[in-house]
Amino acid sequence: MYDLHCHASFSADPATFAQLIGNSDLQVLSATVTPDDYALACTFYGSVPHIRIATGLHPWKIDADEKASETMTEKLLSTIEDTSYVGEVGLDFSPKHAHAKDAQLRSFERILAACAELGGKVITIHSVRAANACLDLIEKTRCLETCSCIMHWFSGSSDELARAIKLGCYFSVGECSLKTKRGPEYVRAIPKGRLLLETDLPEDPASNTSPVLEPEKQAQVEFDKLSTSLNYALETILKLTSRHTRFSIEAASQELLTRKV
Ligand SMILES: [Zn+2]
Repeated sequence: MYDLHCHASFSADPATFAQLIGNSDLQVLSATVTPDDYALACTFYGSVPHIRIATGLHPWKIDADEKASETMTEKLLSTIEDTSYVGEVGLDFSPKHAHAKDAQLRSFERILAACAELGGKVITIHSVRAANACLDLIEKTRCLETCSCIMHWFSGSSDELARAIKLGCYFSVGECSLKTKRGPEYVRAIPKGRLLLETDLPEDPASNTSPVLEPEKQAQVEFDKLSTSLNYALETILKLTSRHTRFSIEAASQELLTRKV
């Protein structure tokens, strides 16, 4: 099984979590949210062959302050040659984050432009109330000519979905998006070979409200939750439509996860 968007560095006990993933048949793309998170993830998971670590700068972490956002972006760009995987990056124009809209746009454009220039990157993209703005920058930087873009938990309109499909984006879909009104409809519209599975788990400890166990046990709970969520997504998708098969999902995932710098 493949999880194309998780957050291994959010685990309460990365050593145990690494072991559990390493002993399983899971292959994951682990997104990070800041350059420091990426450095930490490399320390914990750099030697686990089942885990690919992406260097990321989440739009929620971007400060409206131009200098601060530029420093973070520079820091990310200094790691971009070390890995074929970039993310979580993107744009979020929801009310809570729209104050940093301009800084987000500047940072994301620089990251995409760097990816386009280096080529061979797999980019996992967050877009909330900003799908068209993301697609504008993907087009402007022409990063799809040399890289692959995965729209993570796509929540744009159906016109924006059609545009992303036409551009050649991939889509990672998980339990949460399948439980939304449009989720199943979108799964039916995504072309065969461009649909991937994701969990977006473990949850960020900063926003996790469930009681936390002793770290080793908590890591087991996180791993079980991730596996269950992935199985739920796969089974739901296969029941929804005959367009996607387990084979087509796995072949696309494998192709993306075997990229090497
Ligand atoms: Zn995420």
